[in-house]
Amino acid sequence: MAHSDTEHRDPDCLFCRIIAGEIPSERVHEDEQVIVFRDLHPKAPVHVLVVPREHHRDVRDLAARPELLAHTATVAAQVAADLADGDFRLIFNTGPGAGQTVFHVHAHVLAGGTLAEGEM
Ligand code: AMP
Ligand code: ZN
Repeated sequence: MAHSDTEHRDPDCLFCRIIAGEIPSERVHEDEQVIVFRDLHPKAPVHVLVVPREHHRDVRDLAARPELLAHTATVAAQVAADLADGDFRLIFNTGPGAGQTVFHVHAHVLAGGTLAEGEM
């Protein structure tokens, strides 16, 4: 694969540890490229995180892997259809100033009920 080997896994990364099964999570989907689990502090009736298995810091870095980025969006849509009515908000907090706290790229999928403008 044409991406950097240094980005596969970071032993100190929370989401790498969840992917490895070292920290429990409530998984709702997994495949070869991504896992999806419920956010610990849900901000909507359905709030899950779509997390590429490869360690990339944020969506800027993930954009270097366009097929993986597209797969992340596709899985987000599937999960929103499976767990809610199919409509969803997809959020990549990118950088501390935007509220990113875990520096392993993840897409928040918010769905179910009415999502007001300005809510996360
Ligand atoms: P962000 O602030 O965009 O980096 O999102 C990180 C998200 O991870 C937050 O919404 C947290 O609630 C969530 N989170 C942190 N630790 C865990 C965990 N162990 N399992 C599930 N979600 C978590
Ligand atoms: Zn990681």
